[in-house]
Amino acid sequence: MNIRNLIDKLAQNHTLKKEELIYIIENINDEDRKYLSQKASSLRDKYYGNKIYLRGLIEFTNYCKNDCYYCGIRKSNKNADRYRLTLDQILECADIGHALGYSTYVLQGGEDPYFNDDRIVEMVKAIKAKYPNCAITLSIGEKSYESYKKYYDAGADRYLLRHETANEEHYRKLHPENMKLSNRIQCLRNLKEIGYQVGAGFMIHSPYQTSETLAEDLLFLKDLNPEMVGIGPFIPHHDTQFKDEPAGTVEETTLMLSLIRLMLPTCLLPSTTALGTIDPVGREKGFDAGANVAMPNLSPTSSRKKYELYDNKICTGDEAAECRHCIENRINIAGYVLDMSRGDNVTWTRK
Ligand code: SAH
Repeated sequence: MNIRNLIDKLAQNHTLKKEELIYIIENINDEDRKYLSQKASSLRDKYYGNKIYLRGLIEFTNYCKNDCYYCGIRKSNKNADRYRLTLDQILECADIGHALGYSTYVLQGGEDPYFNDDRIVEMVKAIKAKYPNCAITLSIGEKSYESYKKYYDAGADRYLLRHETANEEHYRKLHPENMKLSNRIQCLRNLKEIGYQVGAGFMIHSPYQTSETLAEDLLFLKDLNPEMVGIGPFIPHHDTQFKDEPAGTVEETTLMLSLIRLMLPTCLLPSTTALGTIDPVGREKGFDAGANVAMPNLSPTSSRKKYELYDNKICTGDEAAECRHCIENRINIAGYVLDMSRGDNVTWTRK
């Protein structure tokens, strides 16, 4: 097999066989990486131009009933300093975001039973009532079809739920027995059916990941056809059983970003905080690989450090305004243009 030919084939057909993906992942050299990034960037430019969309991230609770082995806010981490924001505090984050020009809010949290459906619906409605033109993204884990439908009818537009890994055996090594890959996938399909813009995705270099599971992740994404894809390096957290596992690298992450861009040309693809954490210019490298979204933090500075999924998370001491301007500078210096509009997927309209 020849890597250039495979990249060309992928850029043309937007899919490859599993063996072909594995071959690229295992054999790509620096020169071919450059070629791949260029192909990915020009495909992004075709649909979205050289714009980078900004989403304001509000981490509103770090209570979680789940126990994902890799995650710093897992239920059994007794050292996590738990917090939840009040509705007023959440609205205050939205106000600050609005003043800074944001028109998308991403509400992310652990699976916190305090935030039952009524409270989520109340939160979505309150933000939409104040800022009717904004887009709301939820990222609060696995819920029933009925719950997802209620949030959608209340005004939520998008939902992020990384599948984490498409391989059953790998999923078992990252999660306790009571969590099921089949349920997570069903959740993603339900979200799609309801009409959300859906984001799936996975960590790069999570423990026990292989080239084969990565290829399966890519093919799973191709089949699901999500409007957004969230990927970033796994980074160990000191209070988890994976504390001594190596973090993912920039090279591994940018390779996956480019492959995803070629497979799902119109997807909205963030260059994540985790990528910025492992390399001071990680996010810029993500844009160059085909990403087109950044998600600066709008959470109150007092709780930022507590939403600690992994160690050494960046920007935990900065005010929202600092993050907004820092990322704008980075985007401009890297040769891109900041876009503060809702930035919906070009293929999506609300049902
Ligand atoms: N409770 C929500 C949000 C989870 S946090 C849900 O279940 O979807 C968002 C993402 O952070 C997770 O999906 C996971 O992929 C990522 N994450 C968790 N721990 C991490 C770690 N140690 N390193 C990098 N990313 C991590």
